[in-house]
Amino acid sequence: MLKAIRSHLGLKLFFSYLVVIVVGVAVLATTVEMAIPRSFDRHLASMGRIMGDMMSGMSGADLFSSYRAAVNESLMVAAAAAFAAAIVVSIFVSRRVVAPIHRMMAATSRIAEGRYRERLAIPGKLQADEMDELAQLAVSFNQMAAKLDQTESMRRELIGDVAHELRTPLSTIKGSMEGLIDGVVQPSLEVYHHIYLEADRLQRLVTNLQELSRVEAGAYRLELKTIGLEDLIDGVIARLQGQYDEKGVRLEKEAEGPLPQVVVDEDRMGQVLLNLVGNALQFTPAGGTVRIIGEDLGDHARIRVEDTGIGIPREYLPHVFTRFYRVEKSRARSGGGSGIGLTIAKHWVEAHGGSLRADSPGANGGSTFTIDFPLPR
Ligand code: ADP
Repeated sequence: MLKAIRSHLGLKLFFSYLVVIVVGVAVLATTVEMAIPRSFDRHLASMGRIMGDMMSGMSGADLFSSYRAAVNESLMVAAAAAFAAAIVVSIFVSRRVVAPIHRMMAATSRIAEGRYRERLAIPGKLQADEMDELAQLAVSFNQMAAKLDQTESMRRELIGDVAHELRTPLSTIKGSMEGLIDGVVQPSLEVYHHIYLEADRLQRLVTNLQELSRVEAGAYRLELKTIGLEDLIDGVIARLQGQYDEKGVRLEKEAEGPLPQVVVDEDRMGQVLLNLVGNALQFTPAGGTVRIIGEDLGDHARIRVEDTGIGIPREYLPHVFTRFYRVEKSRARSGGGSGIGLTIAKHWVEAHGGSLRADSPGANGGSTFTIDFPLPR
């Protein structure tokens, strides 16, 4: 019995009403017992004086015991009525409070089983300030379920994407190795180089994935320091100039006015710029030009990376920052791209309170990537 009470909110409510009733009746009965005899005697004495002979046949004790019986009867009726009311009120409160909690418990366990589509019905179309605590709890519950649902589908998508990205280089490596083992492929520097490039792609993919998961989870701390915007740009040029010369693409630096001092995490911002200038090289044919343009716009700094390359068709522009997105899958693949670079770059720029956007007039019109980030006051 005690166990049942402990585990049912409805029973707990009912028994708490019962305790209130019992205490109320007990207090009333004790008060009646202690206070009434004296008051009754006093009243009876004054009645006797007024009514004289009329009351001569009745004894005080008889009157008092009939009076007490009447009071006790009334108390019994009142207790029974209160008891019935307690049952009705408990059932009503159970329906209003306990039933929604039960529904919430059932939905929670279904979510725990992985059914993230689960939602609770919100009674009526109530405004936020018209909702009681239970309705507000149901709204929060639904928000939590929606977030879990979204996280779960992102997780599933990520696993699918990663598996897809890993499959191609792995099967190339496996195919080449099998060919070498069976003697179908003759060992040559070219074959080894091919295998090496695929392994290198796998390694870059894993490194990028690690970084993406860290930046998406917010598990990093920016090491901010003050440096000249020009030095940041020069650092990237120094690292990529050789590859530009090799491919025969011109790399130019321009400054619109004096360039400001910026407060950034040099490694991360350098990496963003390296990614943009590296992509520009990858998607610009020999003979083309890539320009890095720095600008001081008062409250923020701007860096544009403009190329005269293959451009990005308008309809693909909004997607280039999406994880694993590549405009031309086969072309980017041959260049070793994983489609994560721009996703990470956008995260890093946003971590600095800035924005990164892509523009292009369309295929073969070249592309421009623009980084804006706030300047220290
Ligand atoms: P990847 O590692 O494949 O280069 P990114 O996230 O850096 O991945 O870029 C995503 C896609 O955006 C590229 O595969 C390419 O299709 C497109 N892209 C990026 N930069 C340029 C550019 N400068 N010119 C044309 N297309 C670009």
